[in-house]
Amino acid sequence: PYNGPLADEILQKRQKYLGPSLFHYYKKPLNIVEGKMQYLYDETGRRYLDAIAGIVTVSCGHCHPDVLNAITEQSKLLQHATTVYLHHAIADFAEALASKMPGNLKVVYFVNSGSEANELAMLMARVYTGNLGMIGLRNAYHGGTSGTIGLTGLGTWKYPIPQGNIHHVVNPDPYRGTFGSSPGGYAKDVQDHINYGTSGKVAGFIAETIQGAGGVVELAPGYLEMVYDIVRRAGGVCIADEVQTGFGRTGSHYWGFETQDVIPDIVTMAKGIGNGLPLGAVVTTPEIASVLAQKIQFNTFGGNPVCSAGGLAVLRVLDKEKRQAHCADVGSHILARLRSLKEERYENIGDVRGRGLMIGMDLTKDFKNKTPGTELAAEVFERLRDVGVLVGKGGLHGNVIRIKPPMCITKEDADFLVDAIDHVLATAKNR
Ligand code: PMP
Repeated sequence: PYNGPLADEILQKRQKYLGPSLFHYYKKPLNIVEGKMQYLYDETGRRYLDAIAGIVTVSCGHCHPDVLNAITEQSKLLQHATTVYLHHAIADFAEALASKMPGNLKVVYFVNSGSEANELAMLMARVYTGNLGMIGLRNAYHGGTSGTIGLTGLGTWKYPIPQGNIHHVVNPDPYRGTFGSSPGGYAKDVQDHINYGTSGKVAGFIAETIQGAGGVVELAPGYLEMVYDIVRRAGGVCIADEVQTGFGRTGSHYWGFETQDVIPDIVTMAKGIGNGLPLGAVVTTPEIASVLAQKIQFNTFGGNPVCSAGGLAVLRVLDKEKRQAHCADVGSHILARLRSLKEERYENIGDVRGRGLMIGMDLTKDFKNKTPGTELAAEVFERLRDVGVLVGKGGLHGNVIRIKPPMCITKEDADFLVDAIDHVLATAKNR
């Protein structure tokens, strides 16, 4: 049993010594002391089904034995030496990652987070094209560093600092977007921004294929194909942010961008790539990568032996355990059950969307006008915890329940999750 510090003591220390911008889930925050595959345990030993995976970070499962073993064995041998020396772990990992990429996406840069990956991608786009302007989507999240805050298209994350030559185009949101699920109007907005707001040339375009923090919004089908063409004609490169959608989570494909039948010029990844290790990567073509050779691009911890050994183990586990197919299987089961709750029982469920184990339930106050059900979502979120299920919350109005569990979740867990949602909605005060 756990006999470390309890929640109140930790919270007090956090409030005293950590930055006030940190937020915690739940009115009475949860003290998590252990994780095992798809389950988390609190200080009392109570077990929770983890349906958000550290905001889509735990891919194989909490403390997966193979990943743990790889990290431990590598830690005993060598934790750090930087890329100024040779070490096989970084090279083996880069080779394995490149083998997962389509087309000519064969050159890898390792970094330590998603924000860093997107910073580097934006730098590459600008240096390669010689242009400055970037295009991002409204409702996107790409990071919280001073450069990526500019790319992010959600006001809740933006501090008043220079946002650096970035145009935010109308979001191709099939449920709430102006043009519904047809991509033409949204793509025209990209062309309009280029025509009216730039010299006619841009550095690049960045998008998540399914928006995560924005509330699991899957881009209108056909959108990326149209926009990649527009952006490339304006001299720009196309960046896919796979920080949440990569590594088979969408079930139908290994990478989110493949669901839109495009091949990006630069792909950024983090979170699930490390199953909890601080690890990110940028993968691009040899031609684009070569422009960074005019100066030095160096990252002390990028591709360190421990994270590289762990990351390689993650790739192997996902293959060995056939997690992509599993995400498709369990994900479609959850989606089907949630859709029947929407059709048969709860008008407040405005939309059920996503792919594989990247699922969103958009709650509304009034389903006809799609008024965001912010209070209802807060209540559902809080009460799911009481019955032992941890989900996420997202969207600008916080009205989307996000379901993105570790990929090892079983069908029984999935049924428990949907039964819990059903129970909580049936008794909700804010419906
Ligand atoms: N891109 C996306 C799509 C993300 O969801 C996140 C993190 N939520 C990031 C980038 C930034 O990653 P990090 O927090 O590791 O910097």
